[in-house]
Amino acid sequence: MADATATAITHIASLVTNDPSLGSGPLGLIQDAAVVIDGDRVAWVGESSKAPATDNRIVAEGRALIPGFVDSHSHVVFAGDRTEEFNARMSGRAYSAGGIRTTVAATRAASNNVLHANAGRYVREALRQGTTTMEIKSGYGLTVEDESRALAVAAAHTDEVTYLGAHIVAPEFADDPAAYVDLVTGPMLDACAPYARWIDVFCEQGAFDGDQARAVLIAGAARGLIPRVHANQLSYGPGVRLAVELGAASADHCTHLTDADVDALASSGETVATLLPGAEFSTRAEYPDARRLLDAGARVALSPDCNPGSSFTSSMAFCVAVAVREMGMTPDEAVLAATAGGAAALRRTDVGRIAVGARADLLLLDAPSHVHLAYRPGVPLAAAVWRGGELVK
Ligand SMILES: [Zn+2]
Repeated sequence: MADATATAITHIASLVTNDPSLGSGPLGLIQDAAVVIDGDRVAWVGESSKAPATDNRIVAEGRALIPGFVDSHSHVVFAGDRTEEFNARMSGRAYSAGGIRTTVAATRAASNNVLHANAGRYVREALRQGTTTMEIKSGYGLTVEDESRALAVAAAHTDEVTYLGAHIVAPEFADDPAAYVDLVTGPMLDACAPYARWIDVFCEQGAFDGDQARAVLIAGAARGLIPRVHANQLSYGPGVRLAVELGAASADHCTHLTDADVDALASSGETVATLLPGAEFSTRAEYPDARRLLDAGARVALSPDCNPGSSFTSSMAFCVAVAVREMGMTPDEAVLAATAGGAAALRRTDVGRIAVGARADLLLLDAPSHVHLAYRPGVPLAAAVWRGGELVK
């Protein structure tokens, strides 16, 4: 129960708890609600009229409160600029995975201080927009030294650190990809595993095939890293089924799916389908079919996929709006995917929901309902953000 030093947020027009036992529907909606924060945790949730007395009180004045967004997929440890590549692509040139090499060269040449400053900039940018949990990957170093220092930078900004040495084959190994896989699963893994919770691989034509991806993920799992997979983004392929087979936490992108891929995701109790519509938006590509996945029974998450090449946005609200407009999701489904879905993709139960004992990660919207995230695209609706009970915006 809350003590006298707790803070109550009262008169919340609409509260998204993501706990169906607390309110109506899958979002567990409560109208005219209150939430009490005590320390870094949620101490009480209910109707505003029944809120316990606290020393501190914030009156939400008819605004909506939702869990902080949980972004399970980002690439914010990088240096360099790809404005010209984007400009060229928007002028008619097709995207290819090779563009990553531009960022690899700039990242290798950057100091640790530059990488820290850049990562921190995008983590804070996302936080101001309501993202209170953010996974961060390596993948622009592709040497033992550069991958491990990228992960050290990531670990300074988040607990959700992902080793992505298998982003593309390092340029030095273009003629011998097998030797690069040996490096990624050998000395590079040794150097990187201490910093990371997750291991990821870009399973795609032009990156790593199914056998190579399997070798990378199995080697990581043997070191205690949990798999996640860049799967079926640019073409059909084995990535999604490999992710499900290996019990990966997430198959990310899921843009080109066969019925067998959809069935595999729907019948998996472990692997979340994480959709990254910023990538299709920024490359003028076809969006993933969220409706098909949801109707089949798959668990879906949304993430901006913040990276300097294919999706240079940190805005989860933007992804919610695109998912509703272009991918067949309802506003409720999109908000659930951006919060609880991301938490599931990171196997977290302390974030992505507002219930007693959860981390007090909260986003107060300058709107009466969470539906406004889709209804008012491009409008900055984050009125206040708490992370671990601390008001950070
Ligand atoms: Zn990615």
